[in-house]
Amino acid sequence: MSIMPKTSQVIRCKAAICLGIGKGVTVEEIEVDPPKATEVRVKMLCASICSTDISSTKGFPHTNFPIALGHEGVGVIESVGDEVRNLKEGDVVIPTYIGECQECENCVSDKTNLCLTYPVRWTGLMPDNTSRMSMGGQRVYHVLSCATWSEYTVSDANYVLKVDPTIDPAHASFISCGFSTGFGAAWKEAKIESGSTVAVFGLGAVGLGVVIGAKMQGATKIIGIDINEKKKEKGRVFGITDFINPGDSDKPISELVKELSDGMGVDYSFECTGVSTLLSESLEATKMGTGKAIVIGVGTELTLPLGLFAILLGRTLKGSVFGGLKAISDLSIVADKGLKKEFPLEELVTHEVTLKEINKALELVKQPNCVKVVINMS
Ligand SMILES: [Zn+2]
Ligand SMILES: [Zn+2]
Repeated sequence: MSIMPKTSQVIRCKAAICLGIGKGVTVEEIEVDPPKATEVRVKMLCASICSTDISSTKGFPHTNFPIALGHEGVGVIESVGDEVRNLKEGDVVIPTYIGECQECENCVSDKTNLCLTYPVRWTGLMPDNTSRMSMGGQRVYHVLSCATWSEYTVSDANYVLKVDPTIDPAHASFISCGFSTGFGAAWKEAKIESGSTVAVFGLGAVGLGVVIGAKMQGATKIIGIDINEKKKEKGRVFGITDFINPGDSDKPISELVKELSDGMGVDYSFECTGVSTLLSESLEATKMGTGKAIVIGVGTELTLPLGLFAILLGRTLKGSVFGGLKAISDLSIVADKGLKKEFPLEELVTHEVTLKEINKALELVKQPNCVKVVINMS
């Protein structure tokens, strides 16, 4: 009797699915097809929750449902397609939502991470515009090119990063988006110079990543801003020097930042909340003429209000996907730093759940003391 190779078997497994806007999140049984020639099928070990998952249940960035949620996670390769050469069964990998071909105009530039060959998959489908996931014959979409809150997922081999198998899976899961996005924004997108002053809007995992990135780049003043007082303590662990709770004052946040930075504002500010009204504030909080605001937070609004004078007075507003990190060359450095415990990543884990407790997890993320909820997948 011949044994059917793994790469031809469909796997039935559980995944956290959103069936449509307003329909919440339910754990459903889905079918995961074998990987095609250039793909790998991954058995997830750990996943975590990031704000784009919540946005996805509200129809952002696409309105294709059902959708298998999750874009942060780490797993073990279960099977590989025929043409995959650089990865093998048993490798520990992080699914990524942007690739790095290392050859295109953007990959050879040190100004951007937005690979033209393996771009962000805004439609929630694989590069060939199909999906390996289905429910009762109906196509299931991904969050970008990931679907990490599923026991098994399929990624194109160009959208995964192989990591050291000894890395803590909880830590590996959240360096695949939020934390790294913040760290990258300070390191690669802003390229903060030593001695700079910095303001960080929102001290979740993304904001805390910015804080430690700014600290490692040599920033001397790092102002953390959050409406949750508990984030002050967390912020200090990662490196904030000052804290603003906007709820304590009637003044605009930009003014409060200026009061802490010689009336001039900061060199760099980072908008990590996705709250649209904070965009102008984050820009206004920077120095006239030279200040730079980096937008990383993702809300659900597709157009954002911007004050004319905030931008007119010589400031720069820069958007960023994944903090400007190149998915292989830069993310592997972040993973290595995580492995060597150069970041206090354990401080980010505030809760752990199993996949079937996903709704509890989605409630936990609303709590003021929550930073990261880790989902143990196996
Ligand atoms: Zn994310
Ligand atoms: Zn490229």
